[in-house]
Amino acid sequence: MLLQARPFPDLASSLASAPGANPAVADSALDCGHPGSREEAIWCSGVPPDSVHELPAIRLALDRMAALGEICRLLAATISEMLRRRNLHLFDRAEYPAAAAAAPLGGGIRSYLLLSREMVLAYPDAAHQSANVDSRGTPRPETLQQVLAHEADHVRGLDHIDPDGYLTPNTHQCSDIR
Ligand SMILES: [Zn+2]
Repeated sequence: MLLQARPFPDLASSLASAPGANPAVADSALDCGHPGSREEAIWCSGVPPDSVHELPAIRLALDRMAALGEICRLLAATISEMLRRRNLHLFDRAEYPAAAAAAPLGGGIRSYLLLSREMVLAYPDAAHQSANVDSRGTPRPETLQQVLAHEADHVRGLDHIDPDGYLTPNTHQCSDIR
């Protein structure tokens, strides 16, 4: 079983007292005139999800995640707050083939979330898992909900717990892969 991390009791209690507030997420202060990394440059050339197909798929994944309760509800709230602040940008796979998504560890004012448009449209739920495999050929399927849980952990300061970087502490339990 995965580590049942409960790393943010102070944040959880502050969320309880201030619904909607999320101190892990700030308006992004990325300087798109001078991006500091390839990921920042891709974020700057990306756009927020459209309201026709992309945003509804993301909202459904977040609703499923929140329904799992506890830390998963907080992770879903973190992503919702990033959406509200337009910190989540989509990219096309050809621009950044290495990853399904990316977010810097720990959030803050240079916080952003990059999400592959392919994850949103081709792998929206457990019935449509990706055929991702790790370096040894072991299946490591991904879904939109699973990737969002993974990146939300990063935004909240949690790093990988496996050598391949497939898992963060809450990736699996807050995903829809069982
Ligand atoms: Zn990661």
